[in-house]
Amino acid sequence: MTIKEYVKVRKEELKDLVASKEVVPHLVIVQLNEDDASNAYVRGKLKDAAELGIKADLYKFPVSMSEAELLKEIDKLNHDDSVDGFIVQMPLPKGINEETIKLAVSPAKDVDGFHPLSKLNPCTPQGIMDYLHRENVDILGKNAVVIGRSNIVGKPMAKLLLKESANVTVLHSKTKFEDMHNYIKNADIVVIAIGKQHYLDNRFEYKPSAVIVDVGINRDENGLHGDAIPGLPVRLQTPVPGGVGLLTRLALMENLLKIK
Ligand code: NAP
Repeated sequence: MTIKEYVKVRKEELKDLVASKEVVPHLVIVQLNEDDASNAYVRGKLKDAAELGIKADLYKFPVSMSEAELLKEIDKLNHDDSVDGFIVQMPLPKGINEETIKLAVSPAKDVDGFHPLSKLNPCTPQGIMDYLHRENVDILGKNAVVIGRSNIVGKPMAKLLLKESANVTVLHSKTKFEDMHNYIKNADIVVIAIGKQHYLDNRFEYKPSAVIVDVGINRDENGLHGDAIPGLPVRLQTPVPGGVGLLTRLALMENLLKIK
């Protein structure tokens, strides 16, 4: 099943789940930036929520808002019983510490899964795991290589794969090319999240049975491109666009419905 097909099917299931609830789940998105990419992400999230019958509100504040003012708004949301979950859209304007903000969101309402005490996982790795399960990709005892070690993708991805007993290797910008080549050659699952257009290409060798999950989003005048060239000689490769971005959006709705 392609990711688009999977997301469509899963949304139908979630729509039924929302309809079966006594109270409509309520999501709030807090946005302080005027970033084009963020505007597109926020629009997508509001559209997904509307499609599923979830109530979603956008609280848009000026970019000049101070950290103290934002913390006050977060405190209000933490205590507002009508709000089941909320997210603060990143990136935040200069002068506001993203880590402070992530820690201020109550773990009970943290649908982004960023708080260390949150019971939910960050949306990108969670969405990827859900898709791998749906595609019956074997994880236990398999060689999984995660390229990139960010707090929102690489590290939590490695943790989730390890939790399901994959043999996990995390690679990063200090990894030597020759080592990268050897790890990739032996990998059953490769998740790449580095933000380097078409980094995975024909310089590397791949197992024909491998699954490549391309998280990268690289923009140029021709549109969006992944961290891997399209059409690698493997069993399954997620496309960009129409790939992990959709899984991430779906996982946000899944996370909200796990709370409510
Ligand atoms: P990030 O915070 O910028 O981290 C990038 C990671 O890649 C770092 O760990 C860095 O290593 C590593 N790296 C950079 N160049 C490398 C190279 N040549 N070889 C090996 N590793 C290298 O990135 P992020 O937030 O995780 O995002 C990564 C990409 O995924 C971006 O394109 C972003 O737009 C995209 N993304 C997509 C979604 C989605 O829903 N599709 C969600 C989130 C992010 P060091 O730690 O050594 O510096």
